[in-house]
Amino acid sequence: MQEAKFLDNFEKKVKKTIQDYKLLNKKEKIIVAASAGKDSTVILYLLKKLGYHVSAFHINLGLGEYSDNCLQNLKKFCKDQGVELSILNIKKEFGMRMCNIRAGVQQNIKVSNCMVCGIVKKWLLNKEARRLKASKIVTGHNLDDEAQTVIMNFLQGNLMLGANSGPRTGIIKDKKFIPRIKPLYFSLEDDIKEYSKLKKLPVVYELCPCAISSLRIRTRAFLNKVDERVKSKIVGNFLELLPELRKRFKKEKINYCKICGEPSRNKTCKKCLLLNLEKTNYGKI
Ligand code: AMP
Ligand code: ZN
Repeated sequence: MQEAKFLDNFEKKVKKTIQDYKLLNKKEKIIVAASAGKDSTVILYLLKKLGYHVSAFHINLGLGEYSDNCLQNLKKFCKDQGVELSILNIKKEFGMRMCNIRAGVQQNIKVSNCMVCGIVKKWLLNKEARRLKASKIVTGHNLDDEAQTVIMNFLQGNLMLGANSGPRTGIIKDKKFIPRIKPLYFSLEDDIKEYSKLKKLPVVYELCPCAISSLRIRTRAFLNKVDERVKSKIVGNFLELLPELRKRFKKEKINYCKICGEPSRNKTCKKCLLLNLEKTNYGKI
């Protein structure tokens, strides 16, 4: 009985986030950026269950056994649930695996593995979402991720870095930019894990083998030592500030990257800056 109550409360919280922030409607076509991890698998499952017009999109990063395992689990999940799955192989797109892309970038500039991977994934997601004619991209970001992001931005001396975040991206409004939404924004990582286990979803619980020594990992370890309620407070506090942060950003014009044509706040997008570092002056990432 307790189990049923937990599942019900979990689902209610996600439904409330979707309603309160007007994240989705049932007519639009949406894609879930699916890694095969617990967060994106749970939200994919739940959106399908709630009757949204959802499909899955996966980037195969070419990280050996780990990536093979992700792909296998995701294929099984999508087949069982009747969800359409699009797969993009990073090696086909860039001619090399994520490890090689990263190694090349890191020869020129000191950036973490996760930062390079995150920038490349976001770039691909936006482009693919347009190709698949999706009106929104759903990611599996949860309350723990978001509390970490707020603290990380603060530690880097720039809360403004979070101005485009929140349950839905907000400041870039452009026909080439597909909004990203986070229905698990208020859900705790532990609850998502519990939900995935109770529902027996084929999830890869193993962490990415390349996620080493980033600021996020250190922030995560720190936040896991504080009371869970603090995470909610950090995020709640940030959401109160968000309208102010966004007002400042509104004045910025959106450009199209001069190398790839994707929308960007600067003349060159972050992905092209990273991948073309040898040709630039180590531009600001
Ligand atoms: P991460 O950047 O690994 O923290 O992942 C953040 C979100 O990006 C996840 O919740 C997923 O929605 C999405 N994501 C991560 N890895 C992949 C992948 N390989 N393919 C598609 N989406 C992904
Ligand atoms: Zn670009």
